[in-house]
Amino acid sequence: MSYDEMYSYLEARVDALKTNRTGDERQTVDEVFDKQTLMAIYGMMTSGILDSVKYPISTGKEGNVFYAEEEDGEPLALKIFRTSTSTFKRIGKYIEGDPRFRGLTGNRRKMIYAWTNKEYRNLQRYCEAGLPVPEPVAFSKNCLAMEFIGDENGPSPLLKDTVLDDPDDIYDEAISFIIDGWQEAHLVHGDLSEYNILMMDGEPIFIDVGQAMTADHFNSKELLVRDIENINRFFKNRGADIIDVARIMEEVLSGGDDDDDQDEDYDDEDYDDECDHEEGDE
Ligand code: ATP
Ligand code: MN
Repeated sequence: MSYDEMYSYLEARVDALKTNRTGDERQTVDEVFDKQTLMAIYGMMTSGILDSVKYPISTGKEGNVFYAEEEDGEPLALKIFRTSTSTFKRIGKYIEGDPRFRGLTGNRRKMIYAWTNKEYRNLQRYCEAGLPVPEPVAFSKNCLAMEFIGDENGPSPLLKDTVLDDPDDIYDEAISFIIDGWQEAHLVHGDLSEYNILMMDGEPIFIDVGQAMTADHFNSKELLVRDIENINRFFKNRGADIIDVARIMEEVLSGGDDDDDQDEDYDDEDYDDECDHEEGDE
């Protein structure tokens, strides 16, 4: 398919998405699919990552997630961050003082691309440590393609909308994710709650890892405590046997490998690399 053909295909797809929607969502779709974003999707299509974008799974303030498919019909989730001021403001507080974002903080678009890259790499890092997150597939600009969590009936439900037969069991898995996240992946999720956990075949899958921080970040222990508190609060309400925050913290910090050198390969990489194409387009 030529560029022109692809572009009109994408525009038609976006139009189709729009006609299904009314009011706010119409605006959502307009904003999300700006020209740069269409170009990024186009790039993913020509490089064989993506074949089609089908329907929105979720439309949020800072981004949308779409159901998409690979050429062979395999499902994908395509998360598209909106390059808006509100996204910029939210991520600003997470990347302030983070050396990996040095030099980017003035450029809204570049920062959002770097953020997309960060979520991709955090997913990779969790995956490599064997933790249950969607497998990252590719990213470009503000678009992130990853494993679709769900089945032919649609995406898996959020933990908050799930009836739990055995809350203790899922609680243990959530706490294991926190502990192994720190000890094996050297990451703190930082926004862990029943809103960022999907339940697939009775197993929790942890999503939305853009803000996850390396364990050596100055703020990481605070975020860790907050994650544990959120999980404890939710599972307490669901009748699970809760472990004290202090005891969990002790367990997190005592075990594992504290060698900060392990983070070098991660921290030294230049986030700017893959998001260098767009400049001064604001
Ligand atoms: P929002 O502001 O809408 O919560 P967000 O930035 O928090 O967006 P996510 O939490 O990553 O983004 O994703 C939003 C929603 O999209 C999720 O609640 C979930 O329902 C769906 N979703 C995200 N990733 C996947 C995936 N890999 N497979 C299936 N559904 C997904
Ligand atoms: Mn979320």
